[in-house]
Amino acid sequence: MTTQTAHSSQDLMALEDKYGAHNYHPIPVVLSRGEGVYVWDVEGKKYFDFLSAYSAVNQGHCHPKIVSALAEQAGTLALTSRAFYNDKLGEYEKYMSETFGFDKVLPMNSGAEAVETAIKICRKWGYEKKGIKNGHAKIIVCGENFHGRTVTIISFSSDPDARGNFGPYTPGFVSIPYNDITALEEAIKSDPDNVCGFLVEPIQGEAGVNVPDSDFIANAAAICKKYNVLFIADEIQTGLARTGSMLAICGDCSCEHRCEQQSTYVHPDILILGKALSGGAYPVSAVLANDPVMDVIKPGQHGSTYGGNPTACAVATTALEVLFDEKLAQNARRLGKIFRERMQELVEKLDIVKLVRGKGLLNAVVINDSPESSTAWDICIKLAENGLLAKPTHGNIIRFAPPLVMTEEQLHECCDIIEKTIREFSA
Ligand SMILES: *Cc1c(COP(=O)(O)O)cnc(C)c1O
Repeated sequence: MTTQTAHSSQDLMALEDKYGAHNYHPIPVVLSRGEGVYVWDVEGKKYFDFLSAYSAVNQGHCHPKIVSALAEQAGTLALTSRAFYNDKLGEYEKYMSETFGFDKVLPMNSGAEAVETAIKICRKWGYEKKGIKNGHAKIIVCGENFHGRTVTIISFSSDPDARGNFGPYTPGFVSIPYNDITALEEAIKSDPDNVCGFLVEPIQGEAGVNVPDSDFIANAAAICKKYNVLFIADEIQTGLARTGSMLAICGDCSCEHRCEQQSTYVHPDILILGKALSGGAYPVSAVLANDPVMDVIKPGQHGSTYGGNPTACAVATTALEVLFDEKLAQNARRLGKIFRERMQELVEKLDIVKLVRGKGLLNAVVINDSPESSTAWDICIKLAENGLLAKPTHGNIIRFAPPLVMTEEQLHECCDIIEKTIREFSA
């Protein structure tokens, strides 16, 4: 079944080019339908989706359970605002808190908003609980981070495109190199009374799937505890089964739930979720913390018109249930190993593939060319022609992150496409 359309891909791209702000540089395909691991363009060509909307579509495109939760709730009661209670929010908050092991949740919409929320909570905690002198709170962040696009968040980005000409910048952030535990302790020790938080991605997704040393996150959390600094985990991209466990901070635990039974387990003071929290159906994000932290926020001090609306609650509850019911963390763990093995074969055979890295189904292949070269982009164009969609990040790195509902057979088919395509570039 192809959707009948009056416009060709060329026409539709021209429309976006003429009437839309040029804040993205998409791969030139125009998609009009999705189902599971597949998407189709307006001409009816079928593709494997290896981006999953930056890991928002972990549950696969248009998952029928999530779609019907969305439709049913949208047709019953969509939005009340938080001026009133609604009959879905409390149950959703209970489910979220119990699932992830926190006292409370603060619901928002986009990832950037949730990061902003975490920063506000952390600073307020710094003043009211840690006793930082007003205006002096510092949050430590990592180089090459990606936490979103607001003015405050880009203020501590190290990407010139993300930051350039958007100043004046929000002060109060100190950047250290990622995966550098000594730098973290030095940064806190140089001003221990004023540092209130350490904000970090357990794996840096946008930076090109930078996987830190296996003890980095646990050591960082321990240092934060030692100096009374809040450990804030941004799991917007790594969380919700993507890296082979419910959260990336679960380390190498292979159980499907977040649990406290294994040694690598880390309990952040603040956990930030987004993206796959709705399975791609709706913008839903959340910040979780225990009472001593969350309680600093009082009525009137933070909020969002759409945050915690009944539709979002119904969608997110179902999206989480799908992750558990379909054991998507385990599938990501199993298929991720196969993917990296297949790509490692290419690394050994072909000069053009420098290395593969990642965890679960969040992986990247580094192309053996300068970051300024167009090789990774050209490979992605060829991949699209061959029926697989992926996008370069940071020049010569290609991220591969398919929906987690993929089967082993489909994964091998995809690896065949990638191998065939990359071979064309090695000839
Ligand atoms: C995508 C992302 C964000 C921002 O989420 P938006 O919904 O795009 O605002 C923040 N942090 C990480 C780690 C992300 O991957």
